[in-house]
Amino acid sequence: MDFLYLVVLILTILLLAYNRTRLLAAMAIMVILTVVWTELRHLFYVPSWFRFANGIVAVTLIGFSITPLRRLLISDRIYGLFRKALPRMSDTEREALEAGTVWWEGEIFSGRPRWKNLLRVPAPSLSEREQAYLDGPVEELCRMADDWEICDTHRRLPEPLWSFMREHRMFGMIIPEIYGGLEFSAQAHSAVVMKLASRNLTSAITVMVPNSLGPGELLLHYGTEEQKKHYLPRLARGDEIPCFALTSPTAGSDAAGMTDTGVVCKGVFEGRETLGLRLNWNKRYITLAPVATLLGLAFRAIDPDGLLGGSRELGITCALIPVGTPGIEIGNRHMPVGAVFQNGPTRGKDVFVPLDFVIGGRERIGQGWRMLMQSLAAGRAISLPSLGVAGGKMAALMAGAYARIRKQFDLPIAEFEGIEEPLARIGGRTYRMDAARRLTLVALDQGQRPGVLSAILKYQLTEGNRQCINDAMDIHGGKGIVTGPRNYLAHAYQALPISITVEGANILTRSLIVFGQGVVRAHPWLLKEMQAARDPRPGARRAFDKALFAHVGYLLSNVVRAWLLGLTGAVLTRAPVRGPTARYFRQIKRMCAAFCFTADVVLLLLGGRFKFKETLSGRLADALIHLYLGCAVLKRYEDDGRPAEDLPLLTWAMDDSLYTIQESLKGVLANLPLPGIGGLARWLILPLGSVFARPSDRTGKDIARLLTTENAARDRLTEGVYISDMDDASGRVHTAFHLALMAARAESAIRNALKEPVNFENYERLVQKAVESGVITEEQATTVRLAQEAARAVIDVDEFTRAEIEGFEEAAFRPAASGG
Ligand SMILES: Cc1cc2nc3c(=O)[nH]c(=O)nc-3n(C[C@H](O)[C@H](O)[C@H](O)COP(=O)(O)OP(=O)(O)OC[C@H]3O[C@@H](n4cnc5c(N)ncnc54)[C@H](O)[C@@H]3O)c2cc1C
Repeated sequence: MDFLYLVVLILTILLLAYNRTRLLAAMAIMVILTVVWTELRHLFYVPSWFRFANGIVAVTLIGFSITPLRRLLISDRIYGLFRKALPRMSDTEREALEAGTVWWEGEIFSGRPRWKNLLRVPAPSLSEREQAYLDGPVEELCRMADDWEICDTHRRLPEPLWSFMREHRMFGMIIPEIYGGLEFSAQAHSAVVMKLASRNLTSAITVMVPNSLGPGELLLHYGTEEQKKHYLPRLARGDEIPCFALTSPTAGSDAAGMTDTGVVCKGVFEGRETLGLRLNWNKRYITLAPVATLLGLAFRAIDPDGLLGGSRELGITCALIPVGTPGIEIGNRHMPVGAVFQNGPTRGKDVFVPLDFVIGGRERIGQGWRMLMQSLAAGRAISLPSLGVAGGKMAALMAGAYARIRKQFDLPIAEFEGIEEPLARIGGRTYRMDAARRLTLVALDQGQRPGVLSAILKYQLTEGNRQCINDAMDIHGGKGIVTGPRNYLAHAYQALPISITVEGANILTRSLIVFGQGVVRAHPWLLKEMQAARDPRPGARRAFDKALFAHVGYLLSNVVRAWLLGLTGAVLTRAPVRGPTARYFRQIKRMCAAFCFTADVVLLLLGGRFKFKETLSGRLADALIHLYLGCAVLKRYEDDGRPAEDLPLLTWAMDDSLYTIQESLKGVLANLPLPGIGGLARWLILPLGSVFARPSDRTGKDIARLLTTENAARDRLTEGVYISDMDDASGRVHTAFHLALMAARAESAIRNALKEPVNFENYERLVQKAVESGVITEEQATTVRLAQEAARAVIDVDEFTRAEIEGFEEAAFRPAASGG
């Protein structure tokens, strides 16, 4: 009997914590319960220890509710320790951390995301004008962009493509219509980049750069009216080609460590003595620099003579400099792998410019880093993620089709389980990547600038692209490896490291930024504690006390929620929908609590040192990333109208994400610096052990079937990429795929009747025999012939004469097709 009372007491406490009951309410409940149990003892047996224990809990809560008492005993003592443990933070670090807004990651960090808020976010959509632009000029540009010609024959974007881009204002997608730009939504902007990237990366990057972080974006947000009026129409028309130079040989990932300088001084500009900046820089890797007319430059401004009346070190500053300004060296090219967009170094020696060249004018001197970080918080979610999703979609489209067309061992390779595995990964990943892209774009269009989510997107979608393209290469075998006009994969494969490295290299983004910035910005209490600890004013201790106790309640609630939900298979929490996805809503909520608790354990053990434990931070980043991706996938399924055919893709994505979250958290807890704690924490978040498994073979098989047949789920998955209907590398695959499916029945009839499989070497003989013996009709015979011819055109790879490859002078670089 006493045991039952012990259970009641524990359950009472757990339920209070599970529901995150406020301290005063919890105290009142415990007082009432103590009184009630005391009275009930007259009616039935209530052990005295139980009443006493209820009373102790009530008194403890009363103690915690008396602010002066808890400050005296606890928070004021911790305050000093907390201050000491706070990591030092430079201004640039602080500005990077504070950039942007907090959106859905805040819900994840709450430990119990409110699904109604997610489901209330509008579904992504394009306006009629935006859709017409995609179907018109963008489609046309894709038709014009011949990947092989651009990359291997010209090694640059040919002039007609530049003119077309200018004519259709492709460099002005983010510029408002009043300045002559297209003023597209983030979704349309992303859709344009994605479609172009599915055809030719050089075109996509050329369009992408003026529309992402650079002069246009900086002018829009920070430019003076004169600067906007002067430059924005010119940028929109493409009269000015911009580039933005931040990176230098000494400052890559640590861009704020640049040594390029701008010294405030008087000088002569256009014949007049002017107050300005004498600039010296050495930048490299700058996209569009070799052809740019307008150079955006980041440098450290210094005022040694106090001409501006302030301090000597003014900070990072951004200026716009016409490349004709004397002293600028620009024009050489680097050769990035896999794409031939313009990229190169720029140097400047004692270049004198007036102060109005600073973006935003004189008062923005020293604010460059903040401006860049704010712009990055939004822009990073658009360009490279769109390239990444384009890669995934093309991998799904082409690998699925190729696996159906290519036969080995007398069967389409799609029939082999070994091929189903990479096909499933491509399908599941692409579905998830696109879900994250779409959800984040809606947030951007609602005015959010979610810095952490954009870092997640940049890292995860470029990484996902790499995995998809690698899998597609393996499925293609030699066809993917041998380059030439018939190859549609090799350039995307070669160019993978570019998107991995630019706009924040992925290793750094994963191990330093995603969780590091996420926990500071999105944790409901940490930032408040840090701000209070840094605040020298007398009221700060009170604010610290409040945040600290809220944090303790949050931590207790998370551990109780994680444990109870883990123990009960998360049935305690309600899903906002019914059907096959309900379980995933519940499991994601459960793992949010587990993640938040694990993050707090790490913070408690490491304090400010967690910043340097990149392996732990990286694993926590993985968990955070997959919690976000999981939410995005669930939202996508609802937005798409819950199509049952997409369930294999959703199931793969959710199973993989839940498994990754579980393994990442286990990895964190197995590597804590103090022994013992990890084991206990692991039992608390995974009380029934590792319950999440990798996606099943059944799911993989279903996805492989989706990618290797024509169906609505495949169309939805690959929506938004360019589908060539021409006789070119990818166009031939689409044709051959369609014909292969149409001819399949007739081919198997021939095989069964004539005991010989059809291929493009023997089809003429077999088809004729099959028609003569009535196995197939004339109409079927035509389809088989067309299918085999089309298959041959896909299987063929290019070959060149030695002279063409080895570069003898007389060689014309004209390849010939070669079978097998
Ligand atoms: C094709 C191309 C186009 C580019 N376009 C532009 C442009 O238009 N404008 C511009 O200003 N710049 C541009 N860049 C520069 C790009 O942003 C940098 O390459 C990038 O910031 C990384 O710098 P880095 O190459 O010097 O690598 P490094 O900084 O040397 O990094 C090397 C490796 O170390 C890792 N690393 C560094 N610090 C840490 C850390 N604290 N923790 C963990 N890992 C870390 C990185 O993740 C990376 O994997 C471009 C680069 C390329 C290649």
